[in-house]
Amino acid sequence: MDVVIVGAGPTGLTLGIDLARRGVRALVVERADGLFPGSRGKGIQPRTQEVFDDLGVLAAVRAAGGPYPARLIWKDGERLGTQPMFEEIPADEGTPYTEPLMVAQWRTQEVLYARLTELGGEVAFGREVTGLEQDAEGVSVRFADGTTVRARYVVAADGGRSVIRRALGVGMAGESVDPASFLVADVRLTGLDRDHWHMFWASEDSGLALCPLAGTDCFQLQGRFPEGIGTELSLDGVRELVAAYTHLDADSVTELRWISDFRPRTGLADRFRVGRVFLAGDAAHIHSPAGGQGLNTSVQDAYNLGWKLGAVLRDGAPEALLDTYEEERRPNAADMLGLSTGVHRGEVRRGQATVQLGLGYRESSLSVDARTAPAGLRAGDRAPDGTVEGTRLFDAFRGPHWTLLGASAPGVRSLPAAPESYGPGVFLVRPDGYVGWAGDSTDGLGAYLARVGVR
Ligand SMILES: Cc1cc2nc3c(=O)[nH]c(=O)nc-3n(C[C@H](O)[C@H](O)[C@H](O)COP(=O)(O)OP(=O)(O)OC[C@H]3O[C@@H](n4cnc5c(N)ncnc54)[C@H](O)[C@@H]3O)c2cc1C
Repeated sequence: MDVVIVGAGPTGLTLGIDLARRGVRALVVERADGLFPGSRGKGIQPRTQEVFDDLGVLAAVRAAGGPYPARLIWKDGERLGTQPMFEEIPADEGTPYTEPLMVAQWRTQEVLYARLTELGGEVAFGREVTGLEQDAEGVSVRFADGTTVRARYVVAADGGRSVIRRALGVGMAGESVDPASFLVADVRLTGLDRDHWHMFWASEDSGLALCPLAGTDCFQLQGRFPEGIGTELSLDGVRELVAAYTHLDADSVTELRWISDFRPRTGLADRFRVGRVFLAGDAAHIHSPAGGQGLNTSVQDAYNLGWKLGAVLRDGAPEALLDTYEEERRPNAADMLGLSTGVHRGEVRRGQATVQLGLGYRESSLSVDARTAPAGLRAGDRAPDGTVEGTRLFDAFRGPHWTLLGASAPGVRSLPAAPESYGPGVFLVRPDGYVGWAGDSTDGLGAYLARVGVR
């Protein structure tokens, strides 16, 4: 086996898809007997929509959800008024997706799983990893039933309590974001319209929110309660809360489908790579769910790592390419922890800051700008959409290849020009949609391509 991916959450499934489409032999192993059933991370940010477009799942993800409704504030059974959920960002040619989509996480995972199996990938359910050992050639992954599987690389996509992170002895420094107790649940209920995200605040620090989950007949209930106040994690517990905080009767809640309580904390793994093992998604970073960054950052970890593993395993790229995963993703995750804490505390508004379109890798050793006077788009920036001689760039980028704009070269897809919006130069776009290299001509391009395994 080339790669064992531990955990079939959004991180593991995304990585599985990316490796499957690159022809890398990968196996996703999952402790549970099926996919995760809750709505948890329900906001699909615009940048993740671009990633899903590239992975061939955007239409299905869209069909599984819908737009976010406005917030409706209730007080004593009266409607006080509505507020938009996000600051509005106008779409343009370079950024066709600017609005977050609401998709219950279990539905997103179903779509990703379907795509993975369509590409010939596999998830082995009911396989709990208990530890691993690595040597110069590979990693032996140990399972609870005493069996082992050997792989050249392992990716820990096993969530915030990562067994692998602990087995590797990697620390995760962090702190509490909020001492309050939080609850999230998927419920069926009657008595509320499905056109609003209903907010019931009892005080500054306690309240309930009921959000109609697009593409389902459930509401996601979120509760915040003063420190030390617990709730029974049962249908009766939820009914009591709904009766206490809203104008609805207890029996308007007809079904509880999933429930979890949590206390928001931040945490960032000290390392994202130890030898042949990589940490990705919640295994590498945890934070408040406010601002909807978790699932999205996790998907992007997988998307950053996928092409690099493919380049090393399939195309003979130097192993050092894999070091750029931690180099690029750890600072990105560190920034995101600050952002989600800011949104949680009401200091940052959901909008430009949270859509993830401005993230990039300018500081990365993989971002090379060889132009004498760089202008416009820089190496490391996200490569925006656009049109070149009738070809939409996102169509040209779609797939596991590199794309060269403004010249042609072997081993990459080439378009004769770059759109004016990019500024002057020749631009090499990475498989994950960032400018890797920019030059006044193709001088120096060959050396760069050799570094990343393009022959
Ligand atoms: C209560 C709650 C609410 C949230 N709300 C939001 C939100 O509103 N917006 C947002 O963007 N994000 C939210 N998140 C975060 C989001 O759900 C996560 O960021 C996302 O699920 C991370 O994906 P992952 O694949 O890295 O980890 P997970 O989704 O946790 O998946 C890890 C997988 O690994 C499996 N696994 C674990 N240990 C083992 C093992 N030893 N062997 C084999 N398999 C194993 C697990 O069963 C699981 O399937 C929320 C999280 C929680 C807990």
